[in-house]
Amino acid sequence: MPAKPRWPRVVLKVSGEALASTASDETMDAGVVDRMAGEIADSRNRLGVEIAVVVGGGNIWRGLTGANANLDRATSDYMGMLATVINALALQAALEGHGQPTRTLSAIQMAEVAEPYIRRRAMRHLEKGRVVIFAAGNGNPFFTTDTTAALRAAEIEAQGILKGTHSGVDGVYSADPKLDPTATRYEEIGFMDVFNRNLQVMDMTAITLCRDNKLPILVFDVMTEGNIPRALGGEPIGTLIQ
Ligand code: UDP
Repeated sequence: MPAKPRWPRVVLKVSGEALASTASDETMDAGVVDRMAGEIADSRNRLGVEIAVVVGGGNIWRGLTGANANLDRATSDYMGMLATVINALALQAALEGHGQPTRTLSAIQMAEVAEPYIRRRAMRHLEKGRVVIFAAGNGNPFFTTDTTAALRAAEIEAQGILKGTHSGVDGVYSADPKLDPTATRYEEIGFMDVFNRNLQVMDMTAITLCRDNKLPILVFDVMTEGNIPRALGGEPIGTLIQ
């Protein structure tokens, strides 16, 4: 029997930091990008799951970096959105290297390098088996790519969001597992728990959008090899928030 996906259509959120090199100060580790691309392409083909990726830009620029250095916040945020386009192009090239047709749709128009974000076009690409990468966040300053993942997932009628972590923590814990050895990982929690316990999973705008649109989030460690197909295939890893 062919393997079945956890959700037929998903948004995978990959932070910019996850693409950065841990061994050097390079902003991007080609090996990591290639490994993720291979796992996404493999899952797309083996499970038939429709995958849209939202990439962050934190490995290159974050809005707050500039805002702290006397740059106005809006300008700094636009710089952050452009950073996500750089990551998106790298991921697209890597996916194509694995033979996976891919389209980058940018929320800031950049006709020479990416298609403009058009909701119906994104959905059509997914139906045709292409991987879609959403670049430039949602095109507005004062937002994050986590919020973008929630927004795009609701728009394209995805059934869930996969939120990859890169800090070595493989889900949501009762306390910080790096500080408290008794901390335990939740297999499943509700949105209200995230609010009430102020759990730092995604920013509150993103969590609120997911709750209001009944979009479950699987928080999992994207840095462990093989975890993207495991998460997409419904294996019991990470923490499911719903
Ligand atoms: N950003 C923005 N609007 C968006 C998405 C992102 O202004 O809709 C900016 C914001 O400055 C953010 C930066 O782009 O700090 C990079 O995105 P993010 O921090 O979400 O990336 P990640 O932490 O996932 O690498």
